[in-house]
Amino acid sequence: MSGQLILVIEDEPDISELLEYNLTAQRYRVICTESGETGLDLASRERPDLILLDLMLPGIDGLEVCRRLREKDETASIPIIMVTARGEESDVVTGLELGADDYITKPFSPKVLIARARAVLRSSRSTPVDAEKPIRVHGIEIHPGRHEVKVEGNSVELTNTEFKILNLLARRPGWVFTRYQVVDGIRGENYPVTERSVDVQIVSLRRKLGEKRDVIETVRGVGYRFKE
Ligand code: CA
Repeated sequence: MSGQLILVIEDEPDISELLEYNLTAQRYRVICTESGETGLDLASRERPDLILLDLMLPGIDGLEVCRRLREKDETASIPIIMVTARGEESDVVTGLELGADDYITKPFSPKVLIARARAVLRSSRSTPVDAEKPIRVHGIEIHPGRHEVKVEGNSVELTNTEFKILNLLARRPGWVFTRYQVVDGIRGENYPVTERSVDVQIVSLRRKLGEKRDVIETVRGVGYRFKE
């Protein structure tokens, strides 16, 4: 969709120009600022459709910007993609848990950037995915109502927790979930699931998925995602 407004908060002029150039070429409207404070003002005033947020900013940093955006009613639901440097995985985890939607790591290809921006803009417009609806993705069928999983047509026995984790990840292919978000997403009854035990559950889940084990990808230092 063209004409949507994207706010870029980034203090490195080269990156900022690269973002502006590529987004404008896709007919997005773009406003840039190099400061977190100005970014917060612009976000409240202009209500952009998406914010690209550098984490390492002079003055208030990106995580603080993210926190403040989420606190204010008028900016709470604006999608945020964090723009990070390598080695900032722990900041990425914090950012995702503060409510950022996704992240890209510098240096990034313009193609990846545009794809991520589109995906986030699309999912922010659509209604939440119905977790009870059967889905089929990468040869895996999930029937929440029947609590059934089939890999290439063959039934696979999963525990309740494994089922919930698979169902959570598979509904948003390409989306990174931190361990905490997995725990949070499958909570409901009295689930004794901790962040540490998520890793154990994933190992078991992958084993049961057999030849399809690779659909669950580890995002080093951050968490897990279902293959896009
Ligand atoms: Ca920076």
